[in-house]
Amino acid sequence: MLMDANPLLDFSGLPRFAEVKPEHIAPAVDQLLADNRALIEELTRPETPATWDEFAQPLEDANERLGRAWGVVGHLHAVLDSPPLREAYKENQPKIVQYWTALGQNLALFEKYKALRAGPAFEHLTGAQCRIVDNEIRDFRLSGAELAPAEKARFAEIQEESAKLATSFSENMLDSTNAFVVYVTDRKALTGIPDDVLEVARAAAEKEGRAGWKLVLHIPCYLPVMQYAENRGLREIMYRGSVTRASGEFAQAFAAENEFERVTNGTPQAAPPAPEAIAAWDDTPLIERILGLRQEAARLLGYASFAEVSLVPKMAETPRHVLDFLEDLARKAKPYGERDWAELNAFAAAELGLAQVEAWDVAFASERLRQARYAFSDQEVKQYFPEPKVLAGMFRLVETLYGIRIEEAAAETWDPTVRFFNITDGGGELVGSFYLDPYARETKRGGAWMDEALTRRRTPSGVQRPVAYLVCNFSAPVGGKPALLTHDDVLTLFHEFGHGLHHLLTKVESLGVSGIRGVEWDAVELPSQFMENFCWEWDVVRHMSAHVDSGAPLARVLFDKMLAAKNFQSGMQTLRQLEYALFDMRLHFDFDPAAGRTPLELLEDVRREVAVAMPPAYNRFPNTFSHIFAGGYSAGYYSYKWAEVLSADAYSLFEEKGVLDPATGARFRDEILAVGGSRPAIESFRAFRGREPSPEALLRHSGMTGAPAAPA
Ligand code: ZN
Repeated sequence: MLMDANPLLDFSGLPRFAEVKPEHIAPAVDQLLADNRALIEELTRPETPATWDEFAQPLEDANERLGRAWGVVGHLHAVLDSPPLREAYKENQPKIVQYWTALGQNLALFEKYKALRAGPAFEHLTGAQCRIVDNEIRDFRLSGAELAPAEKARFAEIQEESAKLATSFSENMLDSTNAFVVYVTDRKALTGIPDDVLEVARAAAEKEGRAGWKLVLHIPCYLPVMQYAENRGLREIMYRGSVTRASGEFAQAFAAENEFERVTNGTPQAAPPAPEAIAAWDDTPLIERILGLRQEAARLLGYASFAEVSLVPKMAETPRHVLDFLEDLARKAKPYGERDWAELNAFAAAELGLAQVEAWDVAFASERLRQARYAFSDQEVKQYFPEPKVLAGMFRLVETLYGIRIEEAAAETWDPTVRFFNITDGGGELVGSFYLDPYARETKRGGAWMDEALTRRRTPSGVQRPVAYLVCNFSAPVGGKPALLTHDDVLTLFHEFGHGLHHLLTKVESLGVSGIRGVEWDAVELPSQFMENFCWEWDVVRHMSAHVDSGAPLARVLFDKMLAAKNFQSGMQTLRQLEYALFDMRLHFDFDPAAGRTPLELLEDVRREVAVAMPPAYNRFPNTFSHIFAGGYSAGYYSYKWAEVLSADAYSLFEEKGVLDPATGARFRDEILAVGGSRPAIESFRAFRGREPSPEALLRHSGMTGAPAAPA
């Protein structure tokens, strides 16, 4: 195959999505790996000067090419999964992991960086370049560069196996999510579920040549069923399916589901998957193995626990410090969570005839309580947030704050529903671009995220403009109407856009600390969570709402109710996040997987400490906790709360100066967004806020100040 015939090897511009085929992957990966290895040979020769231009820069260029090509593959694996692509991904991923692991353990490179650090040229580097060199040296140590040969080989094996396990973990989750289906042929069994959700469910059944409705565990179906279905048995079945995915309990969930269909439909509509298939999706052994490998890797590096390793490049100092932070917040939130739980139970007993609120009743009863108390539903609110109006409002906000312009443009994409936008600054100069992939698809991983397609940097031919992927899983438009977003969806969109702006509005010209690169993990959520605050500002919301049928803007009275409802159950919600964060930190700190206790037992300990109610015994939450087993949040889940403190405190300056104040916006852009990882996050924070961070704003925003009195 000719080099330039392979679209993955074309670095002249945006990825050529329409042309990338699974068969391009192996040749591109092999070619780039061979090129990079040859270059590294050159760079590590004694006669190659340990300078930025002759050593660090060419290495960065080569790694960027590999990162870009593999980035396209990883992106497609996440948004356009297919069996051949999955095969090619799996086949090539170990080569990529091996390369990065070898790079991180290449002592000759390590020596060059150390020579660069110690040499006379170091003081002439830019601040960004100095930080890149320091980060490289730190990362070399953390990836085993100083290990003895035998340990080094073992360390590499651990990295490779861990990557495979993470991939399998996600695939088991996706496969089991797709496998669990509830077919309903009796409309009465679906009472309460919103029409738009049922329309999608009906179309899905029809596509399979079936009568009735197909309910699935993907969030756009699962969540409304749990919130609105009056049929308690249906909620229980869906809940049971969801919380036993990828576990040994999943088979019983199918059995219960079959029985539910027999009773509801007269006869089950489809046989459950074969027991061997269900067993093959079990993530339990993977979890045990992942934890064992992480601990082994930490010991090899000379640390007592994986949590300590995880914190080295982060803002937080020690696991104990993080546990103190979380436990302190848990203590403050617990009385509010207990109040929320007592209120929910009292309401469910009095108004819904539920003597005991079970796990599958929580969302349903909460939605009814919210409606009773605030007299509006997510469905009502959703009618005011058609996607085009929300997007326009969000764009106008950031245009005002940061002095930029956003305009749609043409580009090759991976799906017809994906859109592409350019950002220009006040002078009309291109700042960056982003893809927006808004809707849920069977081929797309769940959740919402921002990822880099291209990162800002200076090249010999000028400044390379950054490009981002913004991916969400909103319900697609149905019935010829625009897609309608819940207020939660709007928050998600703002959140991911916040990450996008961090990546896109950077002024840094050195790749390693440009945009979100080099930003400490526990600070990287600051710009994203910061953006969410604007979804609670009337002056912003009124410009991005219009009823889908009448065009009327959101009424102030409804907005005020939403605002009043904002902290509805904030105690319970805070405690749930703290439960996940404490579970994650303890699992990687003082939990010994070889000591006979299971992660599930540890989770139960944590729940006894912070949760307001225990879920059913079959709940296998850890088996789908992909953040820590298949994502980058291991011993790092606390970072959401950590960054919430920073983001709430940053936003409070806008509360003081005016939320649409361009001067404060400019300061946020310059001191936080523009600097990326070129300096420690705490310095950026101080430069913007003028003082140390304080948790006061977060507690105030969450309604957790003063005594937890019952609301009127
Ligand atoms: Zn985020």
